[in-house]
Amino acid sequence: MSEYCLFCHEEMIEHMSWATFFTQKEAAFLCSTCQEQLEEISGAQCEICSRPLEKLDPQYVIGNRCSDCVRWEEDEEWKGYLQSNLSIYVYNDFLKELISQYKFRGDYILAKVFSKKLQNFLQKGPFDYLVPIPLSLERQFERGFNQSEALIVEAGLAPTQLLQRTHSEKQSKKSRNDRIHLPQIFQVHDTFELKNKSILLVDDIYTTGSTLRHAAKILKKEGAQSISALTIARG
Ligand SMILES: [Zn+2]
Ligand SMILES: [Zn+2]
Repeated sequence: MSEYCLFCHEEMIEHMSWATFFTQKEAAFLCSTCQEQLEEISGAQCEICSRPLEKLDPQYVIGNRCSDCVRWEEDEEWKGYLQSNLSIYVYNDFLKELISQYKFRGDYILAKVFSKKLQNFLQKGPFDYLVPIPLSLERQFERGFNQSEALIVEAGLAPTQLLQRTHSEKQSKKSRNDRIHLPQIFQVHDTFELKNKSILLVDDIYTTGSTLRHAAKILKKEGAQSISALTIARG
């Protein structure tokens, strides 16, 4: 149990009662004010990308899928590679701030905030490999760590570096269309046996799904059996 909130640094005062005295409390890394601002995704979700469907304009909902996923799955070049993505939280203003502090300011310790949730999910596995989405070498050097890898490590699990970037990921200014049509942005380390393996990709945010699908496509082409993804936030 840490004494200070990892995000706002307020001291966390524990209200001791007989109930808490006798129960093993789960470690808290955020104060209750911050914790309450994390909004877990619930209700009807897209069966592929876990986008909350109730918040979408009905014209973008087709059966149990969002229209983006329908488009991906209608595209001969992309269909069937990414089985599904599970996101834990809605990418609200608070989570945006939390992730940016984690990622860009290099607050590695913030990965702990998500470790319990990740553990719960990852134990449901079984996955042969937990694969963090890699950064380019320049980006990794700049930042000092890979946030997706840190999520796995802080959850007490072992990441496998199956992928490597072939291009710089500085693509945020490109349109969705440009990104989809980028040549392959990853390569696979050929020292790993992928045949019949089930792989879980781990990343911080699912936005367009393009990065994860690039990764899934190359892994599938190398023989992997199924590729799904776990992300902290659904953008
Ligand atoms: Zn706080
Ligand atoms: Zn979807």
